[in-house]
Amino acid sequence: MQTELLITGAGAAGIAAALSAWEAGCRDILLVDRREQPGGILPQCLHEGFGLASYGAELTGPDYTDRITERLAQTGVRLALGTEVLAVRGDKTAVLSDRSGLTELCFERLILAAGCRERSIGSLPVAGTRPAGIFTAGQAQEMMNLHGQDVGREVLILGSGDLGLIMARQLVLAGKHVIAVVEQAARHGGMARNYHRCIEAFRIPMIYRATVSALHGRSRLSGVTLRRLDSSAEEYIPCDTLVTALGLIPERELVRGLGDPDWLFLAGNCHRVHELVDSAVAEAEAIGARVGGELAV
Ligand SMILES: Cc1cc2nc3c(=O)[nH]c(=O)nc-3n(C[C@H](O)[C@H](O)[C@H](O)COP(=O)(O)OP(=O)(O)OC[C@H]3O[C@@H](n4cnc5c(N)ncnc54)[C@H](O)[C@@H]3O)c2cc1C
Repeated sequence: MQTELLITGAGAAGIAAALSAWEAGCRDILLVDRREQPGGILPQCLHEGFGLASYGAELTGPDYTDRITERLAQTGVRLALGTEVLAVRGDKTAVLSDRSGLTELCFERLILAAGCRERSIGSLPVAGTRPAGIFTAGQAQEMMNLHGQDVGREVLILGSGDLGLIMARQLVLAGKHVIAVVEQAARHGGMARNYHRCIEAFRIPMIYRATVSALHGRSRLSGVTLRRLDSSAEEYIPCDTLVTALGLIPERELVRGLGDPDWLFLAGNCHRVHELVDSAVAEAEAIGARVGGELAV
């Protein structure tokens, strides 16, 4: 199997890169994603706030996805969902896995648009057991918004970036008791608009200059130890759920060790973490136009 342009990841960035490569004249584009639906993280983001620059409206993640996938359907870009890129080699071949098995694919150019992954609780020096009830914010969001699953009742959130703030509001709206959002810094780490809409509007307590130093519970989380960073004072906070929002790491494992070959391009959150989808898309469009122009027929 072969393709001129392989794009790995059909999130906002991968789709934007595919659209602009197509518009630039490339006619052999394969866009793959391991998920069964396109849009990357967008379909699980039910809040509004996407696409102000590109569409002049604050869309929900699913609405934004609909708009870009409608445009994609009008092109000849081949979209392969449920398809994971397992490996990329220096000789411009990739190993793809789908339900039918493994396939080796030759390509001319690769745009990696693989998004980012969340830092987990394991990245912190936290004592105690690892009982059920500890989720990253993205896991909790996916469980609730895509699979209709429950996460718990008494929730503490660790980390106050946008993901932590947005999940605090969503959990309150879902009828949970959000005990507090705990942040090690002296101020929250999210956008002002998210702080106002999510924290202030719902009067969710913030605890600054603090962290979680131990987890308690056997099969299910029963509480955490909260440590104040300025005094080292510790207190026990009962809770059955801990949602962590500890930051995002660009996902570049696939191309680690390949160096900087002239056929490889990074777009979207796997290049750098973008706060706004518009900025991830603008970056990906520029890369797609450049690569598409080089491969134009
Ligand atoms: C909770 C949250 C809230 C946000 N809120 C807003 C907001 O209100 N407004 C706004 O403008 N922006 C918001 N953003 C930012 C914006 O949504 C993102 O920057 C943007 O959607 C990232 O797109 P992406 O394509 O780079 O990554 P992703 O959407 O993560 O897409 C990456 C895709 O690559 C796929 N993939 C990865 N590895 C492989 C592989 N090996 N093989 C096959 N497929 C693979 C993944 O399955 C995924 O579908 C938010 C982000 C988050 C996390």
